[in-house]
Amino acid sequence: MTRLRKFYGWGFEGEGMTAAEEEAWLGNFRRLFAVDRFEERRVPSLPDISLPVPRVTPPALLEAICSVGPYERALHSFGKSYPDTVHGLQGNYAAAPDVVTYPRTGSEVAEVIDWAGSLPLSVIPFGGGSSVVGGVDPAPGRGAKGSISLDLSRMNRVLEVDQTSRAARIEGGIFGPALEADLRPHGLTLRHFPQSFEHSTLGGWIATRSGGHYATSRTHIDDFVESLRVVTPRGALETRRLPASGAGPNPASLFIGSEGTLGVITEAWMRLTPRPRRRSSAAVWFADFFQAAAALRTLLQAGLQPANCRILDPEEVRNTASGDGSSALMVLGFEGWDRPLDDLLSRALALAADHGGRAEHAEPGQGAAEKWRTAFIRMPYARERMVPRAIISDTFETAITWERFGSLHAAVTRATLGAIREATGRPGQITCRITHVYPDGPAPYFSFHALGRHGALIEQWQAIKNAASDALIAAGGTITHHHAVGRDHRPWYDKERPDLFGAAFAAAKSALDPGLLFNPGVLTGP
Ligand SMILES: Cc1cc2nc3c(=O)[nH]c(=O)nc-3n(C[C@H](O)[C@H](O)[C@H](O)COP(=O)(O)OP(=O)(O)OC[C@H]3O[C@@H](n4cnc5c(N)ncnc54)[C@H](O)[C@@H]3O)c2cc1C
Repeated sequence: MTRLRKFYGWGFEGEGMTAAEEEAWLGNFRRLFAVDRFEERRVPSLPDISLPVPRVTPPALLEAICSVGPYERALHSFGKSYPDTVHGLQGNYAAAPDVVTYPRTGSEVAEVIDWAGSLPLSVIPFGGGSSVVGGVDPAPGRGAKGSISLDLSRMNRVLEVDQTSRAARIEGGIFGPALEADLRPHGLTLRHFPQSFEHSTLGGWIATRSGGHYATSRTHIDDFVESLRVVTPRGALETRRLPASGAGPNPASLFIGSEGTLGVITEAWMRLTPRPRRRSSAAVWFADFFQAAAALRTLLQAGLQPANCRILDPEEVRNTASGDGSSALMVLGFEGWDRPLDDLLSRALALAADHGGRAEHAEPGQGAAEKWRTAFIRMPYARERMVPRAIISDTFETAITWERFGSLHAAVTRATLGAIREATGRPGQITCRITHVYPDGPAPYFSFHALGRHGALIEQWQAIKNAASDALIAAGGTITHHHAVGRDHRPWYDKERPDLFGAAFAAAKSALDPGLLFNPGVLTGP
């Protein structure tokens, strides 16, 4: 039986938070905002939603792979950002794509692009639709007669496995679980696990330079891409399969992170590894977050490469029920194939102890690391239940070199809390964890929570987002370590990237997509 993905919220139809999980979140928020109850609005169901009449009809040649059905158009109207969810709550589907297309081959992708170019129509590549930055919202380009969502989900196969070089040729629309299931019989794995793994695709990961968890050494999808096949309005291109090359700028790099602006990533050869056979992990407590950060830096600079290494500030610990909120937590894990890992873990624990870290001794299954992991996996289901209660709860992330981490953390915390108070008239919360880390700096991940007002949620969210993003950029960070740019991060991306680079990228786009059909407003253009 085919399971349908929800057009509002996270996951498949029928999935969501349990009553106990919901009560735990609400209990936290009641305490935080000092309120007894929340004003809850009803989420429109599909029959309640009025979608605009499609402005175009697919040609007979493409009819078999097109849909103008309400469910398909609603599903492709938004990604999973905070404003997307508010629009969903408000039943605001005015920007729904006119047509959703489901090509099955690279040739069909080219046919869809030809049709779009003939009218013209904007083309929005759509993988899992898990974008949190407005990357899949069908914004029509200048002069476009409408927009189509180009859904890759029917291009979902592992086509070839090369055991000798340990790589596989894989179609861009495959979702995380199917990809790993298809590699399993070969004893291989990509081992790239974004939190959105279950509902995002290989093509989407490559297009957004996604960051995996369990991946301190190989974090971004970039590290796994051996070669790419891309279909653009000017034709298809394929980069050469090589372990490495010094021949000028890397052609694949132009498309890794291109966020659907240059064409469609239809296939990639991906580097694989054998499935890990050994694991060793621990939880370590610290008196405060900055002590934990110092330990983290020492670990990475000592050349240890734990598969998983993250730290949580005390409030993040309390919010995720991993502890009582009096200490910061480090979750540490090593993975490997042949040799025992205990010596690596012992060395890491010794270095952590030098910074005051106390290793936890817990019953199996009862430790802080397991509690954190459960909360982490269940977290994505919260937003769809909190937005109807006017709760503004979102995350943003960055990366910064170590010597500026403290000042960035202080500036971002101050700016965000100030903006929450100004926008909502009451205090809120910001928490921080470090989910990815490098020898020269961490990638801090912030969550903020505020109580908004129905009717003003997007404006209030935007005011907080602006203040936080301004502070990130002013403190020297990047607007995103792994969430991508999309439309939501565009103003700060334009500040971060050099102007000449912006001009060069715009020229590359004009060369590949002269009609400017692809994903208007993302990365470049008006
Ligand atoms: C709950 C949650 C947790 C998340 N956790 C992580 C995380 O841990 N790490 C992380 O990096 N991100 C995370 N994200 C963000 C998101 O999942 C990533 O950006 C992911 O890579 C998007 O993949 P997707 O298949 O859903 O792409 P989509 O959201 O469908 O598309 C993203 C962008 O890529 C373009 N695109 C998609 N497919 C293609 C293609 N084949 N060719 C060309 N362009 C294409 C789209 O046009 C769009 O601009 C999370 C999001 C959510 C909602």
